[in-house]
Amino acid sequence: MLEKLCLSLEWPCSRGCAIMGLVLFFPALVGYARLWVEPMKNEAPVRRPLLRQVEVTLGRGETLQSVLNRFSLDAPTAHAIVSAIRPFIDPRRIRSGQGLQMFIDSRENTVKGLELSLRNAVVRVRSTPEGWLAERGEIPFVTATQVVRGTLSRNLYRDGTGAGLTPAQILDLADLFQYNVDFFSDIRRGDTFSVAFEEFRYLNGERQRGRILAAELTVGGDPVRAFHHTDRAGEGAYFDADGRSLRRAFLRAPLNYRRISSYFSLNRAHPIFRTVRPHLAIDYAAAHGTPVVSIGRGTVSFTGWRDGYGHMVEISHANGYNARYAHFSRIASAVHKGKRVTQGEVIGYVGQSGHATGPHLHFELLRGQQKINFLALRIPPERNLPAEELELFDAVRGERLALLQGENLQVSQATR
Ligand SMILES: [Zn+2]
Repeated sequence: MLEKLCLSLEWPCSRGCAIMGLVLFFPALVGYARLWVEPMKNEAPVRRPLLRQVEVTLGRGETLQSVLNRFSLDAPTAHAIVSAIRPFIDPRRIRSGQGLQMFIDSRENTVKGLELSLRNAVVRVRSTPEGWLAERGEIPFVTATQVVRGTLSRNLYRDGTGAGLTPAQILDLADLFQYNVDFFSDIRRGDTFSVAFEEFRYLNGERQRGRILAAELTVGGDPVRAFHHTDRAGEGAYFDADGRSLRRAFLRAPLNYRRISSYFSLNRAHPIFRTVRPHLAIDYAAAHGTPVVSIGRGTVSFTGWRDGYGHMVEISHANGYNARYAHFSRIASAVHKGKRVTQGEVIGYVGQSGHATGPHLHFELLRGQQKINFLALRIPPERNLPAEELELFDAVRGERLALLQGENLQVSQATR
């Protein structure tokens, strides 16, 4: 990567970097050059060694030590070099594929220095009258914003990596939308994704991806969006377009209830059957006709009459959650199997159909086949941006949305 760097100060860059252009990098370039020129000032002014540069790449199974051996360095010298590097990088982490520049004194045919290019820094070791000295130089970079867009034809992983997202970014995306989207069932062929993220572009041509700034998925044609926001306290999180935290799966309750008449319990005396039976649900006592809403975004998987449940609605949510709402007096007319419901959408009305002694909602939550205690479920805290944060958020959101939908690439900020 770094060629003829410290000696000639010719522009050392790789192809990608050259494309980026010097104008963009000029301020950083000056700093970069200085990094290399200044240590040189201290070197012997009389007879500068005539250095030759040799590029080496560690092969399979090779270590820094074995490369140094290749250059006929004696054991104490090799040891001294490895020791000098150790404060900056663990020598055991220098593995096959790592590039090294060796600086050889052409007259004496001895190694005078070497440098290792890391992703965002260069570690340089040189021979001085005081022994081997190592230093680390950060590589200047600019922060750019990159956008990747694509259409789903198979699954997010295949289509995302095909469009240029990394597997780590796809995991981030899945994590981001985990409460809003079930990536196994909600995604349809032809749905689209657009992801804007930070990219750090180093002067040596290396690129490193940073956090996702904004993302948009269309799910069955409906857009789901996430915007990153760092609050004044420096804490970052993702929000929807209205500044509501995405990390909120379910409402705390599916209705305005009077009281909980029966909790999740493994042994409850059944009011009708007079036997001890598990009650793996929550009963919310409420007036006949009280509207009941879906606790989260999901798809109706059952609606109709089912034995003791009476009139019931079952909704499947992301991540294998299923919610059952039973004993309705009436199921909302718009609710039918396969319908997508949003969080808070009315799905039915409290009643006492099936086995019930009075009007209440029998609410079961399953994860997979397992009935779980909804009241004990750790639902991530609801978080809405407060007004003063919302102002900041709104200012950035429009720009990010435009990015998702418009320009492919925009250099937003130069760093260092
Ligand atoms: Zn019940």
